[in-house]
Amino acid sequence: MDQAIPLTALVERATSAFQKRFGRPARYVVAAPGRVNLIGEHIDYNDGLVLPMAIDRYTVLAGDLAEGESACVYSRLMDEQHIIPLASGDVTGLPVWTRYLRGVFDAYREEGIYPKAFDAVVDSTVPLGGGLSSSAALEVATATLIETITGQSVTPVRKALLCQQAEHRSAGVPCGIMDQFSSVLCQAGHLMLLDCRSQETTMVPMTDPSIEVLIINSNVKHELTGGEYAKRRAQCEAAAQALRVPTLREASLAMLEEKKSELDALLYRRARHVITEINRTTATAAAIEAGRWADVGELMAASHASLRDDYEVSCPELDILVAAASELGIEQGLLGSRMTGGGFGGCTVSLVKTEATTKVAKEICKRYRRQTGVTAIAFATPPAQGATVLVSNRS
Ligand code: ADP
Ligand code: MG
Repeated sequence: MDQAIPLTALVERATSAFQKRFGRPARYVVAAPGRVNLIGEHIDYNDGLVLPMAIDRYTVLAGDLAEGESACVYSRLMDEQHIIPLASGDVTGLPVWTRYLRGVFDAYREEGIYPKAFDAVVDSTVPLGGGLSSSAALEVATATLIETITGQSVTPVRKALLCQQAEHRSAGVPCGIMDQFSSVLCQAGHLMLLDCRSQETTMVPMTDPSIEVLIINSNVKHELTGGEYAKRRAQCEAAAQALRVPTLREASLAMLEEKKSELDALLYRRARHVITEINRTTATAAAIEAGRWADVGELMAASHASLRDDYEVSCPELDILVAAASELGIEQGLLGSRMTGGGFGGCTVSLVKTEATTKVAKEICKRYRRQTGVTAIAFATPPAQGATVLVSNRS
């Protein structure tokens, strides 16, 4: 099992790096978590319901005001320091990772909120590019630092939306709202049932100590040249149009079956995933609240099959991890498992009996390695707290 350093040690590492680089203590320290989605995949951009939680892995920013008109930011993971203009300065030549910060600066500046200049160190225990939303964690940490430094803030929902905008504009990823909402709004000990249409959240307690969330990173990421994410979005829009509804959230299975003959076969399957997945998400939230774990397991298995067969965003490695988990089954402490995140690699999420976590994780990773030759990384996490300000010494 992979043990990341705890948040307190991460903060310590970031603040001492700040002291060393900038020759003074960090006056502000903020943290924003990564997230895992338990169910409701490829649903946020269809206005449906999703059920993520924050994970016990964070991106930390330690900083202080500075002279000038730019942010000087060092990323420990990249081992790079760059000067990022805070206003509309020239950004050519700056590496991709700085765009996430720059996107947040831009979005906040348009709200009239901007620090004049600051220095910062960014450090993180969220794996980069693993589908656990290190990008949202970086954006939300940046937003939290801006709000802390300036003493001005927007509502949590607005904050998440500004960070989503930053990802759209700076990284060019047309993501939905789930990742940034999770990193801002999740609460420790809870899953968050997020209605992506109304943007309302309902906290679902998950505090049964005998059940744990296990994340397994397949450590593969298939780089697809076809822009699969954007393609899925476009297919969903086309399906909604054919069904004459604004989004697939407004469609029902009965409606889909009725129009089946008019619908392109591929669009039919894409729509079927979305409609059934939204139903599974509300059913999962209810089953978790009632402690009906066998039902939760079945819903997770159905979600994976739907993503694999109807939505076609899984890959052999994710299928192997999920198959290994389902072979173990409830008898061995594995309650349910599915791919999580955008797909084509990244992670699976499983619910396991706490007493069996280590054994189950080891066995799945062993089978995975035997079949793929790749080493997966497993870790358990409680539902963690959304973005927080850890240190604020404004003068
Ligand atoms: P995911 O969000 O699933 O981790 P993405 O591809 O969306 O994957 O985002 C990963 C990118 O975010 C990284 O390649 C990097 O550009 C940026 N990033 C995230 N965390 C950090 C960090 N601590 N330091 C520098 N860049 C980061
Ligand atoms: Mg991301």
